[in-house]
Amino acid sequence: AAKTRQCGSLIYHPQLDAGSQESLSLLSELRRAVENDELRLYLQPKVDLHQGRVVGAEALVRWQHPTRGLVPPMQFIPFAEQTGFIRMLSAWVLAGAAKFSREAMDAGLSLRLSVNLSTRDLMDQDLPAKIEALITPLQVPPASLCLEITESAIMDDPERALSTLEHLHAMGFKLSIDDFGTGYSSLAYLKRLPVDELKIDKSFVMAMERDLDDARIVRSTIELAHNLGLSVVAEGLETLKAWVILGKLGCDQGQGYYICKPMPQDQFIAWASSWQPP
Ligand code: C2E
Ligand code: CA
Ligand code: CA
Ligand code: CA
Repeated sequence: AAKTRQCGSLIYHPQLDAGSQESLSLLSELRRAVENDELRLYLQPKVDLHQGRVVGAEALVRWQHPTRGLVPPMQFIPFAEQTGFIRMLSAWVLAGAAKFSREAMDAGLSLRLSVNLSTRDLMDQDLPAKIEALITPLQVPPASLCLEITESAIMDDPERALSTLEHLHAMGFKLSIDDFGTGYSSLAYLKRLPVDELKIDKSFVMAMERDLDDARIVRSTIELAHNLGLSVVAEGLETLKAWVILGKLGCDQGQGYYICKPMPQDQFIAWASSWQPP
């Protein structure tokens, strides 16, 4: 059955016909959203589990729609990916993350900002130069940005993705594999990819307290990451118990509702300055 996500009259079908009326009106609404400044950058903290310190944040986009309220990304990101609009959106998010990174530095915080990229972004050979053009005038070092890519985005066209990733890595950007364990990827590629971080998918982390298999997957992923010299982040950290377990397993960082839900970017610096570890 076709999955349909509804948001007022704005409906996204995964198989939405590119030329259809619905699709055209969603596309023009998205264009208007950028022009009218309706997109919002939310930030969710990433915390060092050993030191109990805020070390970064993931940038997550929302759409503040004039009549429909705050629209979550899953209601327009897949459509944006299908239509190619995602490149415009990614550029917007990257610019916002670079600006925020500057603000955080000026406030005396050392944070790494994570930004999600899609297949379409990886297929864009000008992407590394475009990101550099955003950070250079702000004097933001490349290492203060981390680019999160899913296994499936890489496996779409592995050779081309690899070439973009190598370019980005050589320029000093940090790279992370998102939703690790849920996609279709091979350890042979993992070995070749110039990545710095693995993010354990939240489905495993959220289930590990009640399901032994999920707990084993989390433990093995942490081991795998460390054996490959990568840092590992658990997303979907929702309880104190999960915090304690992950700490014992040697997981480097955590991200999740137990620490904080994504918040509007203008609240982040105050939040990070007053946060206390459990
Ligand atoms: P993601 O990259 O896996 O991002 C993490 C998602 O998990 C976020 O949902 C976050 O709010 C949610 N999350 C974090 N901690 C917890 C937790 O403890 N429990 C639960 N249940 N959820 C948690 P969000 O913001 O709705 O984003 C959903 C997805 O939309 C993202 O998944 C990402 O794939 C996509 N997305 C969001 N912003 C962007 C963007 O700027 N560009 C691209 N390409 N994709 C984006
Ligand atoms: Ca992500
Ligand atoms: Ca994820
Ligand atoms: Ca996920």
